[in-house]
Amino acid sequence: MKNKHTAYIGIGSNLNEPIQQVELALIELQNLVDTSLVKRSTLYRSFPLGSANQPDYINAVAVLNTDLSTIELLNQLQAIENKQGRVRSGEKWGPRTLDLDILLYDNQQIETERLSIPHPGIYERAFVLYPLYECVPDLILPNGQKVYDLLKQFTSTKS
Ligand code: ATP
Ligand code: CA
Ligand code: CA
Repeated sequence: MKNKHTAYIGIGSNLNEPIQQVELALIELQNLVDTSLVKRSTLYRSFPLGSANQPDYINAVAVLNTDLSTIELLNQLQAIENKQGRVRSGEKWGPRTLDLDILLYDNQQIETERLSIPHPGIYERAFVLYPLYECVPDLILPNGQKVYDLLKQFTSTKS
């Protein structure tokens, strides 16, 4: 069977025409070896997580079917980041032309030196949860939590 794993990729950019960077990254993902792009979200705008002294981010999520292993996929994603001029300055959450994170890979839970899956930010980042919800409204995370329920933390309740 071809392309037997489902991977969710978080895409972000806040440098050098971020919208174009994200659209270009989606084309690169579409062209990845042994991989097909199943779905993509629309674009979202978010405030930077690190220093506020940097431009807003443009974010999106892509759903892939792939035969690549998690580590092969990470290597491919980092190659795309490099191709699009990602400079690793050492500053945590510093500005970047492109950031590609593996949010989910099937229902797997992985903790290694290079990979944490699900991505640890998934539970609390609006710019991840909204586009995930857009792609798959009934998505359930490996720990059993529904993306829909996690989104409720961003909505205000009447008092
Ligand atoms: P955050 O991970 O909090 O979103 P970041 O995306 O800015 O921060 P990076 O500097 O892009 O972090 O990545 C640092 C390292 O994170 C990568 O070299 C990679 O080995 C590791 N990493 C761990 N889990 C993942 C994952 N699920 N997807 C992508 N990279 C991961
Ligand atoms: Ca990230
Ligand atoms: Ca990253």
